[in-house]
Amino acid sequence: MIKAVVGANWGDEGKGKITDMLAQEADIVVRFQGGANAGHTIVNKYGKFALHTLPSGVFYDHITSVIGNGVALNIPILFDEIKNLTDRNVPMPKILISDRAQIVMPYHILLDAYEEERLAGKSYGSTKSGIAPFYSDKYAKIGFQVSELFDEDTLREKVAKVTAMKNVLLEHLYHKPLIDEKELLDTLHTYRDMVAPYVGDVSTFLYEANKAGKTILLEGQLGTLKDPDHGIYPMVTSSSTLAAYGAIGAGIPPYEIKQVITVCKAYSSAVGAGAFVSEIFGDEADELRRRGGDGGEYGATTGRPRRMGWFDCVASKYGCRLQGTTDVAFTVLDVLGYLDEIPVCTAYDIDGEITTDFPVTYKLEKAKPVIEKLPGWKCDIRGIKKYEDLPENCRKYIEFVEDHIGFKITMVSNGPSRDDIIYR
Ligand code: GDP
Repeated sequence: MIKAVVGANWGDEGKGKITDMLAQEADIVVRFQGGANAGHTIVNKYGKFALHTLPSGVFYDHITSVIGNGVALNIPILFDEIKNLTDRNVPMPKILISDRAQIVMPYHILLDAYEEERLAGKSYGSTKSGIAPFYSDKYAKIGFQVSELFDEDTLREKVAKVTAMKNVLLEHLYHKPLIDEKELLDTLHTYRDMVAPYVGDVSTFLYEANKAGKTILLEGQLGTLKDPDHGIYPMVTSSSTLAAYGAIGAGIPPYEIKQVITVCKAYSSAVGAGAFVSEIFGDEADELRRRGGDGGEYGATTGRPRRMGWFDCVASKYGCRLQGTTDVAFTVLDVLGYLDEIPVCTAYDIDGEITTDFPVTYKLEKAKPVIEKLPGWKCDIRGIKKYEDLPENCRKYIEFVEDHIGFKITMVSNGPSRDDIIYR
């Protein structure tokens, strides 16, 4: 049985917690896209962890953690993350890295930062993890596949070719230090020795595991609105954030993804630039940011304060639809307990026209939120285990959202840890 856990919005919906929770009953957790540019926060018996590259199943002995071919693999970051876990008494996870995954090169990270610097005020708000240059090179067919680390002739030839190309940009566009071919080759040899024990054929492994009846979780990064095709282009990430891409980024048949659990947060947050219709500012935003998530809404990778907003039914309905949602996990609901009234964005007003359909970017920039207010429940709902035990106004809020997005909320998360979950 293959299930995907993905985000409906801009990311940071709480996918890490839901994946960690579902991993209890799974055998394999697979990352299928993205890189170390975003993070999942997980709270468990070992402490609080921010994961960037490792799948959110690494805390269980019984899980095999897989880095799929669709991932932008930053090898030093992966190994730092593993060390950070084992230093804090987490048993060494079982890891399998796809021989078809590609490698984030040191120059991808530099070029990402140089490009943001060059664009100055017009930048994309990149985390400077090298993700956009990485995927550009992958599709320009000058990326380095993990398998190529083990073929010395190909490696040398490619390093020479790519160094020559990149140095033109570094010299003439960015006016920065050039890449040294020998140094780059040495770095790649180091990478090869680091990954060697973990590399394998992921699609065959998953095929066999699925045939043997294992439970496989595909863990998405970011959310629908950051998808390069269906998101708020160009303020998007460079790999698809949709469950459908799980088939490609892990190498499995699309029809084997039987369940798509789309994670939706009870309010909105976003990082980076781009239209954010239900955004709030000032004290109202500060308070939600401070109370949000588990210890505030600050980026797991960058520590940047997140932009805050009320729940957006238009964006979430669209986000769930594009994911092919079978189940919605509605998270961080406990945080809203302080509000007398809870504003919700139910439609967009675009030049006087009211719509509940999520538009293309230039129209989105003009959209104003249509806000409805629901009564708050004014109490702490953490610790509640049964849906009927939630305060009436809290249930009304959940049911209101469900009606507006049109997808069934089957899980409600009322706290950061594994057990803070209410099944419906
Ligand atoms: P991800 O990238 O989608 O995994 O999202 P984040 O790592 O940004 O997770 C959001 C934050 O909310 C993390 O700090 C989680 O520990 C926390 N979190 C997840 N679910 C809940 C919840 O139901 N209630 C509270 N209060 N915090 C939660």
